[in-house]
Amino acid sequence: MSGLAERLARVDAGIADAAREAGRDPAGITRIVVTKFHPASLVRELAGLGVRDVGENRHQEAQQKAAELADLPLTWHFVGQLQSKKARQAIRYARVVHSIDRSSLVDALAGDHDPVDCFVQLNLTDDPARGGVQPDEVEAIAERVLGSAGLRLRGVMAVAPLDEEPRRAFARVRVASERLRLVAPDARDISAGMSGDYREAILEGATHLRIGTAITGNRPARG
Ligand SMILES: *Cc1c(COP(=O)(O)O)cnc(C)c1O
Repeated sequence: MSGLAERLARVDAGIADAAREAGRDPAGITRIVVTKFHPASLVRELAGLGVRDVGENRHQEAQQKAAELADLPLTWHFVGQLQSKKARQAIRYARVVHSIDRSSLVDALAGDHDPVDCFVQLNLTDDPARGGVQPDEVEAIAERVLGSAGLRLRGVMAVAPLDEEPRRAFARVRVASERLRLVAPDARDISAGMSGDYREAILEGATHLRIGTAITGNRPARG
């Protein structure tokens, strides 16, 4: 088995263990492999190992890889900050945007196109420079998504802060998800959990994990 196959298998076993611990069906959890900074060849290798969901956080890099790998049955997830002027280009390849953080981005994404799945990103810190909206702003932006053509609201997304116990941070995400469902009952999904904290995210109800280095190995230096 290659190192990549081994790491993928190890993470998938970890996901299954955490799901069991949480009394959940692992089939209800989507494991997205975040391949940022890695070449298209690595994504192709992952596809050969059965990976179908991949995540990227920079538009230009994602666009190039998606074009190069258009022959593969992949679903591309956009997980990084997205400039409004790049929004329409990004949804030519990305079927899911995890980083909805302002109404101007919702307006830029809306349109008469195949539905794009959207997650509203929560900022779990007090630092406005970290992407996302404050938890009390979720309903307003959710309503904007619900009122927009071509967008399907899936739920909330978050990154655990570095200085907080991840389980506690993800418990706050769960509360935000419950509040969101009062205005959008179908928006049940939670995108949370990365290489170092996916177990805690699963225990707090995450349905979409965004896992990079634990599967891909260390990222090459940023080019
Ligand atoms: C890079 C990235 C990840 C994956 O991080 P790892 O720690 O490598 O698993 C997840 N989510 C977002 C938004 C990212 O930018």
